[in-house]
This record gives sequence, C-alpha cells and structure tokens, in this order.
Amino acid sequence: MSRAVRQRFDLLVVGGGPAGIAGAVYAAEFGSRVGIVDDNARLGGQIWRGASEAGSAASKWIERLQSSSARVLHGRVFQQLEPRVLLAENDDSIQELSYEKLILATGARERFLPFPGWTLPNVMGVGGLQAMVECGLPIQGKRVVVAGTGPLLLAAAAYLRQHGAEIPIICEQASWADLARFSMALLAQPSKILQGLQLKRELAGTKLSPNSWPVAANGMSTVESVTISRSDKLETVPCDYLACGFHLVPNIELPLLLGCQIQNDCVRVDDFQRTTVAEVFCAGEPTGIGGVELSLVEGEIAGLAAAGRIAEASSLFGRREKLRGFGRSLDRTFQLRTELRSLPPPETIVCRCEDIRYSRLRDHASWREAKLQTRCGMGPCQGRICGPATQFLFKWNPDSVRPPIFPVRIESMAGFKHDSTFELCEPTGGR
Ligand SMILES: Cc1cc2nc3c(=O)[nH]c(=O)nc-3n(C[C@H](O)[C@H](O)[C@H](O)COP(=O)(O)OP(=O)(O)OC[C@H]3O[C@@H](n4cnc5c(N)ncnc54)[C@H](O)[C@@H]3O)c2cc1C
Repeated sequence: MSRAVRQRFDLLVVGGGPAGIAGAVYAAEFGSRVGIVDDNARLGGQIWRGASEAGSAASKWIERLQSSSARVLHGRVFQQLEPRVLLAENDDSIQELSYEKLILATGARERFLPFPGWTLPNVMGVGGLQAMVECGLPIQGKRVVVAGTGPLLLAAAAYLRQHGAEIPIICEQASWADLARFSMALLAQPSKILQGLQLKRELAGTKLSPNSWPVAANGMSTVESVTISRSDKLETVPCDYLACGFHLVPNIELPLLLGCQIQNDCVRVDDFQRTTVAEVFCAGEPTGIGGVELSLVEGEIAGLAAAGRIAEASSLFGRREKLRGFGRSLDRTFQLRTELRSLPPPETIVCRCEDIRYSRLRDHASWREAKLQTRCGMGPCQGRICGPATQFLFKWNPDSVRPPIFPVRIESMAGFKHDSTFELCEPTGGR
C-alpha cells in the first residue's frame, strides 16, 4: 500500500527541466513556498538530467535550486483532483499537491513517423538512444545511422560518436537551402554560433546528407540496415542501430487537462507566461520549441511573475524575444516535407501500443473516430507517439485529453483518502 502525502504550496512547478528549475528558483528566492515535481529521479529535464560536470550551467542551476527553499518532489502528475489540487504518484507514494499558483513546465518529446520496419528492435528515438547510452548502454564500435530532422540529430550524433559509435551517415530531411538559411539566422545568436562550431568540430568527417530520410528499416529480429531516400535515389546503409526522430512536439496534455487554451499546438501565454487559466503559468517547450536558453528565460519570467515581481519579469522580455526568433527559425527549417506522408504502406503499424495498421486508419475522418473504431491512441502511451504522427499523416486534430494522462496504479485512481498524512510545506529560506 502506497504512502499518501498531502502538501500545500504557494507555487507548484510541474517539470524539473531548465524552465521549471528557473521558475522554482526565482519564486523561492523571493520568498514563495515552492514545490517542484518531476517524474524522473534526477532533476534537469531532457538536456541536463545526465549532466554532472562541475561548473556547467546545469550544475549551477541545480545547485541553486537545491540551496533554495524550494521543495523537490519526485512524482508524475496525472490528474486534477479539484481546482488547484493535482494528484501525482511515484513508486511508493500518492501525492495530493495543492497550490495557489502553478507553473507548467512539462517540456517536449520526440516526434516519430511510421515507416516499414520502424518497430524493429534497435530502431530508437535519437534522444532515446542518447539517454540509454547515458545510462550505460555500450555503443563502442556500433554503427548508428542517425535520421529524421532537427538539431537534436547533430547533438545526439556528436554524443554517440564521443562514446565510440560509428556514424555512417546523418540523414536530414530539410534541404540544403533551408539549412543555409538556418545558419544565417544563427548569426544573430552568438551562443548558438559557438555551439554550431563545436558540433562541426565534433562531427568532422561524418557525412551529413540533407534532402534525405529513412524509407525502411530492414532486418529479421533486429535492424540490420536502413534504406534511405537521398536526393531522390534509394540507398541501403548497413547498421546496428537506427536513431530516428522528426524534431520535437510540446507536452501539452496537462495544460489541456487544466483547460489552458492551445494555439498552433502550443500553450497560449501572455507576456508574463500566464495561460488563459487564472494563476496558471506555462514556461519552456510546451509554449513552443526553442531550445534551452528560451526555456530558461521563460521559466525566470514565470517564476518572477508568480512571485509578484512584475518589474523584474518585464526586464527579461527583450532577451526572450531574441530567443523566440531562434524558435521561429527552428519551426521554419525543420517543418516536415509532404513526401513523408507517403512513408507508411497500408500494412505498417502506426499505433504501436494497440498494433493498429495504416490501412485501418486512413478511412477515418478524425482522431476521435479512429480512436472509437480502432483503439488507436488508447494504449499505455495514450497517443503520445501515434497522436503527432496521425496529425501529420491525416491532418487530424487531437481533441481533449482524459485523466489519468499517464497509466497509474488502481489505488491511485481509487481516490485519495482524507485521513492520510498531512504535511504543510513551509519555506526554509528566501530573500
Ligand atoms: C529526448 C530529448 C533529448 C534532447 N536532447 C538535447 C540535447 O542533447 N541537446 C540540446 O541542446 N537539447 C536537447 N533537447 C531539447 C531540450 O530538451 C530542450 O531545449 C530543453 O531541455 C527544454 O527545457 P524544458 O524545461 O522546457 O523541458 P524539459 O527539459 O523537457 O523538462 C520537462 C520535465 O518535465 C517532466 N514532466 C513532464 N510532464 C510531467 C508530469 N506530468 N509530471 C511530472 N513531471 C513531468 C519531464 O519528464 C521533464 O523532466 C532534447 C529534447 C528531447 C525531447
């Protein structure tokens, strides 16, 4: 039986990546009672979770959070119990988290598109494979084809190469012209130029092929080669892994559950990162994909605004606007080309939780109809993988989400007992 814990905060932050950490730090340093909850045992979100290098931006922010009065919680928020009360669970507890104000900093995830063989073992997300190597998967001497779109391809390829992988090719679906325009746009962002130059050095000698994408992963019990379309010609490249991802999609399930308005698949926010729901703020990649610096400044603004420090928050608008320009360049450069819609033949599985093939989906008019008729999107990932894929393939709009937004234990669903442990969180520091 899980321990039940009830905690109350002035400000609750959901998501312990750069945006959530910045929001929690700023609000806590100005005296708010802050709780920050993340579903991973290690703070830092997608980019900083594995970082341990002393003196890095990641370790500085994490140390600043740990020495603030903010209380760090480990749990996955899955449901709203009542207004201003969320439920979360981890392996040994169910948590009822009450708040006056809330910052949603739930980040983004990789987008996958179906093609023949994409469900074979060793075909993985680009960030997913990187994370597995960070956790100890041996990659020394393995041939990894990296394919899809977005800057994550280069970052992950560089990381895998540093850890001994051979990268025969990086296939980027964007064109040379798009990539050249993107490089020009980076000139306005000195920190990005430095990152770009470093990646160029780390990937020296690795083939980067624009106008290229995977059309099939081949193999019997695991991937053995990848067929790629490369400037309109097909080519087969032997490999041990295919690391594949088509840029990122914002995690907007929790904002949707709370009723926040969504615009262009992102959470709509005002200048102070306020959503359309009173006292609910949103920062980082749910408001748009824009990189770690943008997530940080949005988190800072949200934390300051939630703590009532309006003047300090306003002083950061200029920095945020510059960084949003980078986000717009990402969207333009790495938008998916229409040819990718014809990647899956009828027999290709699109919803891998429920084994639903393309042929069973294509005649439906909407996401809702397909769900009702086929169970597409109703498995453990709750449409997180096939939702964005079908949105691109069939131009369906995902509609409302239903609680719980993640699979949870039955006892967590059965309700929170009101005789459970009561713990009121008090600040231990702050200015
Ligand atoms: C797989 C992956 C790998 C990436 N690798 C790189 C890289 O190598 N280099 C690079 O420059 N950029 C990388 N990025 C992009 C980078 O993550 C972002 O630019 C930046 O980290 C975004 O910060 P954030 O705080 O907005 O979100 P995130 O860093 O994504 O943090 C959000 C956090 O919220 C947690 N969360 C979400 N929902 C809930 C919930 N309901 N309950 C509790 N916790 C929740 C998530 O698990 C996560 O820890 C990667 C992105 C992804 C998806």
